[in-house]
Amino acid sequence: LRSICGDDGVSQGEAIREQHGKDESMHRCRPPDVVVFPRCVEEVSALARVCHKHHLPIIPFGTGTGLEGGVGAVKGGVCFSLRKMGQVLDLHQEDFDVTVEPSVTRKALNAYLRDTGLWFPVDPGADASLCGMAATSASGTNAVRYGTMRESVLNLEVVLADGTILHTAGKGRHPRKTSAGYNLTNLFVGSEGTLGIITKTVLRLHGIPEATVSAVCSFPSVQTAVDSTVQILQAGVPIARIEFLDDVMIDACNRYSALSYQVTPTLFLEFHGSERSVEEQVKITENITQSNGGSDFQWARDAETRNRLWKARHDAWYASLALRPGCKAYATDVCVPLSRLPQIIVETKDDLIENRLTGPIAGHVGDGNFHCLIVLDPSDPEELQRVHLFTDRLARRALAMSGTCTGEHGVGLGKKALLREELGPTTIQVMQLLKDALDPKNLMNPGKIL
Ligand SMILES: Cc1cc2nc3c(=O)[nH]c(=O)nc-3n(C[C@H](O)[C@H](O)[C@H](O)COP(=O)(O)OP(=O)(O)OC[C@H]3O[C@@H](n4cnc5c(N)ncnc54)[C@H](O)[C@@H]3O)c2cc1C
Repeated sequence: LRSICGDDGVSQGEAIREQHGKDESMHRCRPPDVVVFPRCVEEVSALARVCHKHHLPIIPFGTGTGLEGGVGAVKGGVCFSLRKMGQVLDLHQEDFDVTVEPSVTRKALNAYLRDTGLWFPVDPGADASLCGMAATSASGTNAVRYGTMRESVLNLEVVLADGTILHTAGKGRHPRKTSAGYNLTNLFVGSEGTLGIITKTVLRLHGIPEATVSAVCSFPSVQTAVDSTVQILQAGVPIARIEFLDDVMIDACNRYSALSYQVTPTLFLEFHGSERSVEEQVKITENITQSNGGSDFQWARDAETRNRLWKARHDAWYASLALRPGCKAYATDVCVPLSRLPQIIVETKDDLIENRLTGPIAGHVGDGNFHCLIVLDPSDPEELQRVHLFTDRLARRALAMSGTCTGEHGVGLGKKALLREELGPTTIQVMQLLKDALDPKNLMNPGKIL
């Protein structure tokens, strides 16, 4: 390995291995045996060939912000930390796309794009690497308008387990649409490092909107907040963000971020467009929320107030943790058809109360996707067991409502059994055939997804 990426490109130090063997989840992860830091795709390919020859597991590492234990080295092996590959390449302003290497994060890309009038909207809150986001099919607050990573990736460069370099949509190609053959790009989006190492991602960009306005609205119940969301979407309002926070979560955010919103179910909204179109969107939305008993909007028009508002939303994880200092947080991530959202949230809140769990809820409600951020004491086995049973019940509730056990965090270590229930044996079998075809020695991130 040293002969490929140099002495400082290989580490067996305990601290480095520990750091690369865990993410932000509570899954107990094992560190890899060694961490390598390749500088280019040729080095990634050469390192993979060595691993292939010696039957060593390969675990790709982005920024370690994953929430499903995806980077844990369950069978030991070699962690490929891609942090030395951090170039933004091939910006095509007139084509609205850009190519990035694996360690470019979404914030770094948007800083790079600042003067171009373009931006990349997929925003999981954490400043994750864009290739890691492709690997987990991430989404977040802007997905209701701009789509998830699935809609945003135009092409990928991937190194397979045997070192082969593949371009999923053909080398150098970046058309905005294609119907050319199997969609290999979207096979790798969401593959969580189990099919190959993503070494370049071609991303679709968007124009920065002329006007942006954010607002906060409080509701008498979960049902009225979600009804408003559905009606806003039905009215064709191209809402950019519509985030739900339950009473427990808004209370936590108030305390953590020094805010003073009403402690009831709340929507954080954002509108993008021209001045006139934003004005019209706001008018329609206000009519809808008021007809559902919503409060007057509290506005965030200037960039500073807007940033403060969305920082508070993105800090929801830390606000939840602050509810029980010294505890850990466990994020659930189910997604259901919109019509089932009020029912599942109400049932979940009842379940939390019945089982004496602290679990503020925040959701990308426009997509039917929500998270329960359960704050628990990891040294209390009885509480851990209650959380475990709760999360299983929640996922099964989502499946029973024709939803999914993961809207955006992925399967990782924790949801393999649920994935089988969700997809059924035939679909799992076809996935296994694909995995076997691309990685017959099962070296790529073994123990995840399947
Ligand atoms: C506070 C907080 C809030 C979050 N909110 C959201 C949210 O709203 N929406 C959302 O979608 N996610 C959210 N996440 C989860 C996380 O940010 C995403 O899963 C992110 O996409 C992970 O990217 P990463 O670079 O950190 O990947 P890592 O954690 O490093 O890796 C995740 C998985 O991808 C694989 N992987 C990483 N890089 C590559 C690569 N180059 N090639 C192949 N496989 C690779 C790894 O092997 C692993 O299986 C949140 C996380 C935190 C901590």
